[in-house]
Amino acid sequence: CGVVGVYGHPEAAAVVRWALLALQHRGQESAGIASLDRHGRVGIHRGMGLVADVLQPEHLARLAGHAAIGHVRYSTTGASRLENAQPILSRFRGRFLAVAHNGNFVNAVELRGRLEEEGSIFQTTTDTEVVAHLVARHGGTTRQALPWVLRQIAGAWALVFLDPDGVIATRDPLGIRPLSLGLLRYSDAQAPAWIVASETCALDSVGATVVREVEPGEVVHLGPDGVRTVARMDLPPGARGTQAGGGLCAFEAIYLARPDSVLFDQSVHGLRKEMGRALALRHPAEADLVTGVPDSSLSAAMGYAEQLGLPFEMGLIRNRYIGRTFIQPGQSERRLAVHAKLNAVRKVVEGRRVVLVDDSIVRGTTARHIVELLRRAGAAQVHVRIASPPYRFPCHYGVDTAHRSELIAAGRDVEAVRAAIGADSLAFLPLETMLDVLKGPACVACFTGVYPVPVEDPADKLALE
Ligand code: SF4
Ligand code: MG
Repeated sequence: CGVVGVYGHPEAAAVVRWALLALQHRGQESAGIASLDRHGRVGIHRGMGLVADVLQPEHLARLAGHAAIGHVRYSTTGASRLENAQPILSRFRGRFLAVAHNGNFVNAVELRGRLEEEGSIFQTTTDTEVVAHLVARHGGTTRQALPWVLRQIAGAWALVFLDPDGVIATRDPLGIRPLSLGLLRYSDAQAPAWIVASETCALDSVGATVVREVEPGEVVHLGPDGVRTVARMDLPPGARGTQAGGGLCAFEAIYLARPDSVLFDQSVHGLRKEMGRALALRHPAEADLVTGVPDSSLSAAMGYAEQLGLPFEMGLIRNRYIGRTFIQPGQSERRLAVHAKLNAVRKVVEGRRVVLVDDSIVRGTTARHIVELLRRAGAAQVHVRIASPPYRFPCHYGVDTAHRSELIAAGRDVEAVRAAIGADSLAFLPLETMLDVLKGPACVACFTGVYPVPVEDPADKLALE
C-alpha cells in the first residue's frame, strides 16, 4: 500500500491525489482520500480501482480543506472490496478519526477478538481498523491515545491519521515500512505545507522538498504549529534489534519502490544497479546480451551488463496498460495477466545467448513464463540471474500474501528452481552481498526466516472475514 498526509495547503486533497498517483505502483485495488476543513468538517471518498478513476474532479470538489490523507491499497489482510478500502473513517464522542495504513499487524486477530468481546463493532475485515477502536477505547485525543495504542499492536506499519487536530503519522519501531517527510512551499505569503508519503517520489511529484524520514517508532504531528515529534515508541517486547534483522524492508529496495525514490539514504535505481553489478561479479555468465524484465528489474539488468561489458538490450517489452501482476489478488488472474503483459522481441534474442536479470523470484510464475517466451522467440540459451536472494519464507509485514507452499524457492535448492523455470542456468544474489549494498539495517525475514517481530500465529489474508 501507499499512504500520504498533507497539512496546511489550501487544496490539500488535490495535493494528496497527485501524491497518490505517484504511489500507484504500491497498490491498485482501491484508492481514497479523507479531508478536513477549517470548520472541522470531514469529507471522504473511496473506491475500487486506480487513483485516476476513483478520484475525479467532482469528488475532489467535495474534499475541501487544508488537511487530507490518502491511501492506495494492495490487500494483505482483508478481502479486496469497497468496505475495506481506506482511509477508514470512524466517529466517536463527537470527534472523527480517519486512518490509512501500509503494513500488517501480526496480532490483529487476537486484538480484534478482545475488542469484540468488549463490545466493539467492526465495519471492515482489515487489520487496520483495530487501531481506530483502540483510540476510541482510550478516551483521549488521537495524539494522547497513540502511545498507549501503539504499544499494543505488533508488526509493521506506516500509519497516517486525520482528526480534528490535523495529521499524525507514525512508523513501526523497527521502521519496516517506509515513510518520508517533506515541506511544500506553495506561496511566498503563506506558511509552508507539510507532507508525509510512503516514498520520496511522491514528495518530488508534488514539488515538495524532502526533509527527512519519519524515524522508526516516531509519532509526528502535522498541525497549526508545523511539525512536532509527539512520541517515540520503543521496540516491542520480543522484537530483535536492528543488528539482528530489524529495519527497513529489503524488498522495498529490490522491487516495491519506484527507482526515483530514496531509501536506505540511497537512490533506489542506484541500489538496484549496484545489486546487478554485485550479481555479475559473483555470478557472471557467458552470453551475448543482457535483458531485464520491465520495469522492476531494468536497473539491476543495466548494472549487470555494465559490470561485464555486455550489451544491455530490450529483449522483452511490457504492455504499459496492465498493472503489476503480482498485485493481482488471485493466482489464476495473475497467470493471465503475466501472459498479456510481456512479449519477447525476436529480432533481439534470436540465436543469442541471453542473460535474463529479474529482481526476484517469488512464486516463479513470471520467471517460468519469460524463459519460455525467450525460447519461443529463438533465444539460443537463457541464463537467469536474480538480483536478490531466494525468497523462501512468507512475509507477514504487508508485502505479499503468499503461503510457504506457493514460494518456488521454499524447500527447493537453486538447481531445482532452475529446472522448474526451465533456464539453462540460474543464480541469486547472496544475502551478505545484498546487505553490503544496502549498508543499513534491513528486514530480510523472507530470505532467512528470522522474523524481527515475532509472528506467533501466522494469520491468513482472510482471517478476519
Ligand atoms: Fe520486506 Fe521480506 Fe521483511 Fe516482508 S519479510 S517486510 S518482504 S524484507
Ligand atoms: Mg518484475
